[in-house]
Amino acid sequence: MDDRVNTINHALVMGGGLAGLSTAHALTKANFPVTVIEAGKNIGGLARTIEHNGFRFDLGGHRFVTNDQELDTFVRTILNEDCLVVPRSSKILLRNRYFDYPLKPFKALSAFGPKMSAKILADYIYERIRAQFTTEIPASLEDWVVANFGRTMFNIYFRDYSEKVWGIECQHIDQRWVEQRIQGLSLGKAIAKAILPTSKKKFTTLADRFLYPRKGIGQITDNLAADICKKHTIYTQSRVRFVNHSDSRIQSVEILCNDRPGQLSASHFVSTIPLPVLVNALRPKPPEHVLKAASQLRSRDLVTVTLMVNRPRVTGHTWIYVPEKSIPFGRIHEPTNWSDSMAPPGKSLLVIEYFCFRGDKTWNSEDFELITSTSKILHDLGIIDQKDIIDQVVMRIPNAYPLFEIGYSDHCHTINQYLEKFENLYTAGRGGMFKYYNMDHAMKAGFDVAEEIQRKQMQMNGMVSTTMFSGDS
Ligand SMILES: Cc1cc2nc3c(=O)[nH]c(=O)nc-3n(C[C@H](O)[C@H](O)[C@H](O)COP(=O)(O)OP(=O)(O)OC[C@H]3O[C@@H](n4cnc5c(N)ncnc54)[C@H](O)[C@@H]3O)c2cc1C
Repeated sequence: MDDRVNTINHALVMGGGLAGLSTAHALTKANFPVTVIEAGKNIGGLARTIEHNGFRFDLGGHRFVTNDQELDTFVRTILNEDCLVVPRSSKILLRNRYFDYPLKPFKALSAFGPKMSAKILADYIYERIRAQFTTEIPASLEDWVVANFGRTMFNIYFRDYSEKVWGIECQHIDQRWVEQRIQGLSLGKAIAKAILPTSKKKFTTLADRFLYPRKGIGQITDNLAADICKKHTIYTQSRVRFVNHSDSRIQSVEILCNDRPGQLSASHFVSTIPLPVLVNALRPKPPEHVLKAASQLRSRDLVTVTLMVNRPRVTGHTWIYVPEKSIPFGRIHEPTNWSDSMAPPGKSLLVIEYFCFRGDKTWNSEDFELITSTSKILHDLGIIDQKDIIDQVVMRIPNAYPLFEIGYSDHCHTINQYLEKFENLYTAGRGGMFKYYNMDHAMKAGFDVAEEIQRKQMQMNGMVSTTMFSGDS
């Protein structure tokens, strides 16, 4: 490892996921020297694609959607002819029936039967009337969903899936998460949308088409990395251990690169590694209340079981959501429905997502246990025939989702207030900022940081030349 970087004008990016690579890419384009430090064997973080004996899969299917025209054009440009536009077909598997996702109210109501449908509508109307007489602001995910969809819809449709994803009860999940996720949606609006299909109003989560790279989502991060590496260095298998500071500036980071210790200095430091990891790496250590705030921020982790099958297709869908508690996994996706190039001809694969916490029963299960139980459940559900399975891979993915427990924003505020004192430290990305960021947000946050670095550097250069000028006169 060469630690002789130019510390006057050099950025060091911690984390080689989409946010970190976006910062490094923008700086590279602006001829600003940059180095990326990534703990993993490969770059890409959550947005990477695994290759296995001719099969490819993401760590949970990743579609690219954005309302930002410039970013959309950027992604289409870097993918070039490998940029596919894929129609979305998502289903919810509930009580052995497939429902449309996003919710198609009339189909759902007819499937629930007249009695249940009447209860759903009555509950919803009750909530709309109640809203006229209350000034209460929903605090939790449960409060928000009940206010916007009614109690019955919460119980049969939202509760089990949300609790499966988050691993805690909906009354402990901050409503700000759901507001970011399904902006402005309610049962009334879903019905209005069904009645008025020409409505121009679009909800981000409901996009019915999305961009997808021919060879998996990792093609975006791979292409960014290829551009960066033409001029600069990305160190993989290099874990940030300590972030040294003095005089309100970050001075250096200490890393373990392939188990060998090293130290790197720079003038600007960008952190896209999980926020609590950054706080705990700071030396000298932050004050006790900041360390305590960091210890309260938890992440939800993910285990994926991928089953390769000797069949051209298994389902006709991009995603299948599985809310029922009796089934331990939460979501299934079939990558070949996203791009034909995700499997050898005549073969397909299913990726099954288990939401969990590091160290729990799922996380600690042996691979063969997970594979055996997953394939049996899929067989029993009539989705696959076990004898079609020809290969399998289990992946464990830490820090997949920042967990928005009530109180998280106060903890983030405490941490950010402390970090603000470092004039050359910037945070970006999903774990780096502890925000429910999708890929477009993570990229945008990365680009914004690159701009800020250049602006600050110009200011610093200006200050140096002004000082020199006044000194000369
Ligand atoms: C199952 C799942 C499905 C998703 N689906 C979609 C989707 O369909 N569409 C969408 O837009 N978004 C989706 N997302 C979100 C998307 O993955 C993220 O927004 C994006 O990848 C975040 O990028 P990032 O760089 O901020 O974080 P990360 O990808 O987490 O990158 C952080 C990097 O830091 C590295 N790191 C951690 N600690 C250290 C250390 N100490 N030293 C050095 N490096 C370290 C990690 O290895 C990682 O590479 C999904 C996420 C998940 C989990």
